[in-house]
Amino acid sequence: MAQAKVIDGRAVAAGLRNRIAAEAGRLRNEMDLTAGLATVLVGSDPSSQVYVRGKVGACSTVGIASFELRLPADISEAALVTEVEKLNGDDRVDGILVQLPLPQHLDAQRVITAIDPAKDVDGLHPVNIGRLWSGRPGLVPCTPQGCLILLGTVHGDLSGAAAVVLGRSNLVGKPVAALLLAADCTITTIHSKSRNPAAISRGADIVVAAMGRPQMVGADWIKPGATVIDVGVNPVALPDGRSRLVGDVEYASIGAVAGAITPVPGGVGPMTIACLLRNTVLAACRRRGVPDPL
Ligand code: NAP
Repeated sequence: MAQAKVIDGRAVAAGLRNRIAAEAGRLRNEMDLTAGLATVLVGSDPSSQVYVRGKVGACSTVGIASFELRLPADISEAALVTEVEKLNGDDRVDGILVQLPLPQHLDAQRVITAIDPAKDVDGLHPVNIGRLWSGRPGLVPCTPQGCLILLGTVHGDLSGAAAVVLGRSNLVGKPVAALLLAADCTITTIHSKSRNPAAISRGADIVVAAMGRPQMVGADWIKPGATVIDVGVNPVALPDGRSRLVGDVEYASIGAVAGAITPVPGGVGPMTIACLLRNTVLAACRRRGVPDPL
């Protein structure tokens, strides 16, 4: 039986990071400009600490300066907003990333809205969301951006393709749908109230799965030859007490049906940080009127 082409997110992300490093070096040498990313970590959630460490480490590999701000878990919303505003005014900082989730007493939306949209490298500020849906240049959320780059390695032109997006979160599903629409796909979004998701999905040339439901998508959801981008990252327990990560799709069975598929891990995941670095360099250039280098 035919096996799908495996879309190697690690290799694509490594290529992008090399290009970012080259551009960051060129900006430093030719314009004395070092792009900078500020990370804001509130509290000491272990997963958030790991994510922030990964982002700071990635900056150093491509020549982006990083500024780490660690704040106590009981910080007030007003004090946190003041810290964000200080970063807005700091010229060394081109990108501001507030690590989510925030402690319960803080309204993440209010904090994100305090970020200068020109420095909103997560692309979650309402101004950037509006720009995305209205087809104007802005900062695009990282994971959705990564999905489109991976699709581009398989499809030269997405125009007219039928695309199904499984999930409608503000972080992934909705921006993926906006990007696919901007690429002239015909899009259908599936969510938890949708009827007959398998039948709808089976009509699609492109399926992007972002539900956070381990291996929910079976081979009967996929049209032969379709391209499948699996955003899901779900830990599942192993009999020996350890756990492993699986996506939202049944990789083995779908691999026999699809034309191309991303693995988990090693698919979308590596693209997310690469796109964060890309957004930081883009923000650094745009803030100074330098044409987009990437
Ligand atoms: P989320 O906020 O929980 O959203 C999940 C979406 O899936 C919701 O829109 C929900 O519908 C829909 N959904 C849930 N169960 C469903 C079902 N049975 N049938 C149809 N739709 C269903 O999750 P997220 O933040 O978008 O993340 C999704 C997955 O991507 C997670 O596994 C997450 O870990 C992963 N992720 C990976 C990366 C990466 O870098 N690789 C980055 C971000 C997220 P309703 O809106 O109706 O509730």
